[in-house]
Amino acid sequence: MIRRHKILTRSLLLLAFAAMPLVAARTVTAAVSAATMPADQALKLLLEGNQRFVAGKLEHPNQTPDRRAEVAKGQHPFASVLACSDSRTPPEIIFDRGLGDIFTVRVAGNVADKVVIESLDYSVKHLGVRTVMVLGHRRCGAVIAAVEGHEGTADQDVGPMLSELRPAVADSKGEPGDPVENAVRENVKLVVKKLATSEELAAMVKSGELKIVGGIYDLDTGTIQMLTN
Ligand SMILES: [Zn+2]
Repeated sequence: MIRRHKILTRSLLLLAFAAMPLVAARTVTAAVSAATMPADQALKLLLEGNQRFVAGKLEHPNQTPDRRAEVAKGQHPFASVLACSDSRTPPEIIFDRGLGDIFTVRVAGNVADKVVIESLDYSVKHLGVRTVMVLGHRRCGAVIAAVEGHEGTADQDVGPMLSELRPAVADSKGEPGDPVENAVRENVKLVVKKLATSEELAAMVKSGELKIVGGIYDLDTGTIQMLTN
């Protein structure tokens, strides 16, 4: 009888331990992950890397086999970047970073549709990112197409990418200066605002814990001009 009681107790204990990881996993999923790095520090690291890139003094950090082995166990990127697919604007190169450093989303015109927003949300909520940069670039082909195709297309289906760029073209129309440069800048500003609209991220931006910033990459000099709202 005593023996049976002991076996039963042991079985119950084993069951309890087996259930623990499940309970813990649910708790983690519901909460926002702890920050990999404070927002200010992450932005500083990105901009310092860009300065090295501009000056031609690349350090190629975190690109060794050791780093590959380290991040194979799990990723903890310190920043997220939404950039254009343009082959001249790869974030890991223009910020002089390596494996596991930047959570990157790239799409023509650096627009933020639902999948892009969800991807960046994931990086903040589950990977601990606290700095998100929206990076437009000068002479962006997608924006040029949107500017040139804007007239007379208001009711036409121009496809998902140009539809996303349409508000930036409309909002910047008539501004002094180059219409493409103006639309590039306006698009980055609108995307920054759009990313901060989810309730959870908006609260983090308001408290200062999360930075969502915009920048324009200069194809000629390699520099990034940060935008202020
Ligand atoms: Zn582009």
